Amino acid sequence: MRVGHVGVIGLGNMGLNMARTLVRQGFTVLGFDLSAERQAMAAAAGIQAAGLAALLRTVDAVVSSLPYGRDVEAVLTTADGLLDRRDRRVVVVDTSTADPTTSRRLAALLAAAGHGHLDAPVSGGPAGAGEGKLTMMIGGDAADVTAARAVIDALASTAVHVGPSGAGNVAKLVNNMLVAAHMLTTGEAVRLAEAAGVPAEAVLRVVNAATGRSGISEVHFPRWVMTGTESGFAAGLMRKDVGLAAELVAETGLDLPLSRAVARLWLDDRETVADHEDFTRMAGYRPKGEQA
Ligand code: NAD
Repeated sequence: MRVGHVGVIGLGNMGLNMARTLVRQGFTVLGFDLSAERQAMAAAAGIQAAGLAALLRTVDAVVSSLPYGRDVEAVLTTADGLLDRRDRRVVVVDTSTADPTTSRRLAALLAAAGHGHLDAPVSGGPAGAGEGKLTMMIGGDAADVTAARAVIDALASTAVHVGPSGAGNVAKLVNNMLVAAHMLTTGEAVRLAEAAGVPAEAVLRVVNAATGRSGISEVHFPRWVMTGTESGFAAGLMRKDVGLAAELVAETGLDLPLSRAVARLWLDDRETVADHEDFTRMAGYRPKGEQA
């Protein structure tokens, strides 16, 4: 079935830029956010404001970008919304990073009402969302991936169908546990280099041409950590992801000592880097102007 009208729920750092990308790609986009300020920013970008239930009853596909799995559950089960709709099959592309258990529960609930649900978390930040160049990891039925293909291709330059419902969020939590670790290890590495007399910039140039590099050392350090600017991803949201990854470890019964240490460093320290601050602050490196 053709997808012409897309509803974007959650117009924050990621959702608003995804909505802008969908408008640019020719979709008619309806948007909903609890914040009047975000809703006004969306209207200025050609995104039609809609009430939640009205949006859910009219669009051909839904893209959600919300902080927590419980938020996704609240909007998708809202009264007079998707669960009461019978005129067509609607596929929800949930790009939020959430726990796989909630994803599976929502997929089953929507399937019983005749709709599809993909857990489709993303990597690439607000910039990737604005350029339609996200990496998307998808859990769900192949038929729903096909039905949502036009929306997926508009948002992502790489989309991997990882497996059944929940698999997308498992892949995302694994990825973000690595991100969390790389932020700390790379931060320690540049601080060590400076303490031993080699400038951080010089050692980063070496690491990024050698085998110690990662997405964090190649992108996040030069762009945001070294300049002291914001990437658009809050430390609190990354803490949520690290906490969910730690829960996943516990569910599997594995003993992963390094993951445990990384989770402890992220979750125990809200004094040094508060939840509202940018997650790149957790590198513990401060640019020259900021150093005491
Ligand atoms: P954000 O806090 O900037 O935006 C979330 C938006 O959702 C806010 O505008 C908020 O008002 C709205 N909202 C909250 N509850 C709502 C509800 N019940 N109904 C409608 N709107 C509601 O967060 P973000 O950075 O855009 O992240 C969104 C999701 O994407 C999170 O799950 C995050 O982990 C994930 N993510 C973020 C990034 C990033 O770089 N920012 C990258 C990848 C994944």
